[in-house]
Amino acid sequence: MRRTAIAIHGGAGTLLKAEMSPTKEKAYLAALEVALKAGHEVLKNDGTSLDAVEIAVRSMEDSPLFNAGKGSVFTADGTHEMDASIMNGKGRSAGAVCGITGVKNPIHLARKVMEETEHVMLAGRGAEEFARGIGMDFMPPEYFHDALRHAQWMSVRGTDTIALDHDIDPEKKLGTVGAVAIDINGNLAAATSTGGMTNKKFGRIGDSPIIGSGTYANNATCAVSCTGSGEFFIRGVVAYEVSALMEFKGLSLKEACETVIKDRLIQIGGDGGLIAVDRSGNLCLIFNTAGMYRGQVNSSGEMSLGIYGEESAKA
Ligand code: ASP
Repeated sequence: MRRTAIAIHGGAGTLLKAEMSPTKEKAYLAALEVALKAGHEVLKNDGTSLDAVEIAVRSMEDSPLFNAGKGSVFTADGTHEMDASIMNGKGRSAGAVCGITGVKNPIHLARKVMEETEHVMLAGRGAEEFARGIGMDFMPPEYFHDALRHAQWMSVRGTDTIALDHDIDPEKKLGTVGAVAIDINGNLAAATSTGGMTNKKFGRIGDSPIIGSGTYANNATCAVSCTGSGEFFIRGVVAYEVSALMEFKGLSLKEACETVIKDRLIQIGGDGGLIAVDRSGNLCLIFNTAGMYRGQVNSSGEMSLGIYGEESAKA
């Protein structure tokens, strides 16, 4: 019998238990659990990995806790510009959007780009026009206004500092969200969504919407979703590199992820992490930062959630 598995992340960074209040920790674990269960439910009912990763990511986009959708960080202009991508391991089809404003669920729009256009990536106003044309939900700026994100932005506004939200927030709030899954038919999928970096300008785009950097899926190898300092993930072509090490060098999922995150990425100065699943349903959740919001249901059906270092809190 084939087994399913799913993993999610809510961003990686300098997450330390000493700096997290019990109330906040509980809120994050609860939000991760809701997203994970939503995705797992799809797989349990023999749904597709694509649906599972989209639903899990949508759940986190709808939470103000994560830097994606509703909780997106502020740009230098005081707006929200979101990026997202999704990839189907079967046939390696993919869709992505970048620099979009007002769209409630960027990951859904990325999926529509994949399924309803002949393109892979749509940007800014054009992507929004496409979204309007297919009747996607838009929300007013107030929907994306979060007091903490606003305070983060105020602390660097007018400067040239662009920052991962955890770099400027004493409470170390993150982050980009993502999901990877394998379904009952052995199909893999990956999805990633983000508000990017606080105070970003000039139309800065990170790794999250770039296929091969922030997101990748190939039924022959693995599905990967990344989080961290985007510029380094682009230069390291991180998500694809994991797949390539498996395909061309015969590494296991764990070996490939360790090589990329604990060695290759560090060599160029990048920090962050990724989640990945291979075609046998093995999962790897790995980071070179102090922590990463994360959760998984492995192929034996065991669920676990985690935030800090090595430990993993049972759900
Ligand atoms: N990778 C994202 C970006 O650079 C940020 C993050 O993962 O927190 O846009």
